[in-house]
Amino acid sequence: NKFEELGLNESLLSAIQDLGFETPSEVQEKAIPLLLQQDTDIVALAQTGTGKTAAFGFPLIQKLDPNDRSTQALILSPTRELCLQITNEIKQYSKYVKGLHTVAVYGGASITEQAREVKRGAQIIVATPGRMQDMINRNYVNIKNIQICVLDEADEMLNMGFYEDITSILSDTPEEKNTWLFSATMPIEVARIAKEFMKKPQEITV
Ligand code: AMP
Repeated sequence: NKFEELGLNESLLSAIQDLGFETPSEVQEKAIPLLLQQDTDIVALAQTGTGKTAAFGFPLIQKLDPNDRSTQALILSPTRELCLQITNEIKQYSKYVKGLHTVAVYGGASITEQAREVKRGAQIIVATPGRMQDMINRNYVNIKNIQICVLDEADEMLNMGFYEDITSILSDTPEEKNTWLFSATMPIEVARIAKEFMKKPQEITV
């Protein structure tokens, strides 16, 4: 199978070529065509190292409007390290999409500096749940135009005690958004989030 057959646009295919990715991984092959469709929620059981960041990152980048500077996508991840790693990957994947900006929002660093970066215009925010909740409470971020929420490593986020933050953030974002959940395991708390906050999610296992 080839990246050219998954429905990705030229900007993404050029970036993929620069990165030297030759063939899509299993989770990419299964998730990308689904996520490129209109109005899809998914629950994907996938471990780290399977290429899941690109599996949600490519369709996410393709679906956003770079001419609109509002925040359109939110990726929640458990740790600062993962947050920075995802931000770095998304920036590489979107290098040929002019006007698309990604900002990392995580604890242990200046919140006012992060607020400043967001205010300059960030269509994509990659955040840890606690700091994101803090940014919302302080009105440092407008989440009214969010169309896609990605929950990455959902089981880890719940292990770390982020249930309240995650559910509160999901409740504050527009109801019409799509939610893409990735998790290595499916404990009851993850299943509960899928049941309460997602619309008939399609399931993928790799
Ligand atoms: P992830 O599971 O998202 O943490 O990705 C693991 C690593 O695999 C990252 O360094 C990616 O840059 C790389 N990667 C993702 N997709 C592919 C692919 N289709 N071919 C080669 N490398 C990939």
